[in-house]
Amino acid sequence: MNILVCVKQVPDTTEIKINPETNTLIREGVPNIVNPYDGYALETAVRIKEGSAGSKVIVLCMGPAQAQTALRECLAVGADKAYLVSDKIFGGSDTLATSYILSEAIKKVEEEEGRLDLIFCGKQAIDGDTAQVGPEMAEHLGLPQITYGIEAEVDGDMVKVKREAEVGYTIVGAKLPCLVTMTQTFYEPRYPTIKSKMAAKKAKIATLGAEDFASIDTGRCGLKGSPTKVKKTFVPVRNKDGLIIDEGSLEESTVKLVSLLSDAAII
Ligand SMILES: Cc1cc2nc3c(=O)[nH]c(=O)nc-3n(C[C@H](O)[C@H](O)[C@H](O)COP(=O)(O)OP(=O)(O)OC[C@H]3O[C@@H](n4cnc5c(N)ncnc54)[C@H](O)[C@@H]3O)c2cc1C
Repeated sequence: MNILVCVKQVPDTTEIKINPETNTLIREGVPNIVNPYDGYALETAVRIKEGSAGSKVIVLCMGPAQAQTALRECLAVGADKAYLVSDKIFGGSDTLATSYILSEAIKKVEEEEGRLDLIFCGKQAIDGDTAQVGPEMAEHLGLPQITYGIEAEVDGDMVKVKREAEVGYTIVGAKLPCLVTMTQTFYEPRYPTIKSKMAAKKAKIATLGAEDFASIDTGRCGLKGSPTKVKKTFVPVRNKDGLIIDEGSLEESTVKLVSLLSDAAII
């Protein structure tokens, strides 16, 4: 079985800073990591591989050359092969363009590696935070999708996913091939060993650029091919002047709170 995991290299912080003039992310001076949800997806993929002889885990990342570091981290914790999708034309892509390019890359990877039975993504990236790329890729590729997985197992030609629901969990099954997005699992991703780190450092990473995709429409890539435009960004002003309601008893304080909320037309 061939399993592909999409991993994004993200800044090691949730305090994303935006350049107010260009409205793009400021990445300088911030260390990068593998998006944590992608780490859970990778661990799930490696566990499935370990239970199914002859299986292979491939990691795919779109980003600049420095994203190779993220791919090597994945190779050190169980991935067998890594592909970096990198081209100037792809820079500044919004989620639709990103998912389109990754889908085209997946078609190319399938030509090289054979059919991909399972495609994993994180539920969202901690910088962009849109949670759109996985579901959009499933649409581009015409695959069934299961989102918010916390556990996934393969049984014959089916994948069974335990997924987070508003209340509790649901178990959803789909026929392979299928795309699954993963949230935080019950288990933690494994750590690399010194030996696996050394091997990953030496591993070859295949790089794909626009010229490697036979049928890519470059008009759908990059800033120009992105229908979403950031018009303005701002940091919300926090009002620290909280109001403490103390009318002497819980009941009277509640009545006062309800009256204040009602006056403010909030309820
Ligand atoms: C309007 C808009 C404008 C933007 N402009 C810029 C810009 O100018 N410059 C810039 O650098 N960024 C920009 N971004 C961010 C960029 O579009 C996103 O980083 C990218 O589209 C992925 O979206 P996300 O981070 O929300 O991923 P999500 O949809 O939250 O990610 C879900 C999952 O998809 C997979 N995934 C996502 N991205 C990748 C990837 N690159 N490689 C492999 N797997 C991936 C991962 O598995 C991830 O867990 C912009 C975003 C928006 C919404």
